[in-house]
Amino acid sequence: MSEIGTPLAVGEIASYHAHIYYEAAERPRAEHLRKLIGERFLLRIGSWHDHPVGPHTKGMYQLAFAVAEFPRLVPWLMLNRDGLSILVHPNTLRPRDDHLVHALWLGDPLPLKEEPLPVQLSARAEIEELPPANTAPTIAP
Ligand code: ZN
Repeated sequence: MSEIGTPLAVGEIASYHAHIYYEAAERPRAEHLRKLIGERFLLRIGSWHDHPVGPHTKGMYQLAFAVAEFPRLVPWLMLNRDGLSILVHPNTLRPRDDHLVHALWLGDPLPLKEEPLPVQLSARAEIEELPPANTAPTIAP
């Protein structure tokens, strides 16, 4: 976390992730949401993880999206998450802060594991590159 009086620049945000969490009983809702997202937004939808992986303590899939998509996607998720918990976090040189300090939650927050998250990356190139979109939107959000 930064000291008081040293604000971070939003230009440090290379991209965003949204992680959509579900357990077995919630998977049909997560599947429906995934379909709706793919129809509406140009982004990368990640693999299904039915079991916790990395810092995540519940099943989830990831959305990777450009900074420019945030003001379209995040409000839409606010209205359409259907009771699922969603973590939205920036990707900067500080992955631990990105997830634990600078993130926002839609719905109920869930615990995250700290240790898989590096405190500091040394160069912008180390930030996971924004993967190419795998969606082909056909419906305006
Ligand atoms: Zn992430």
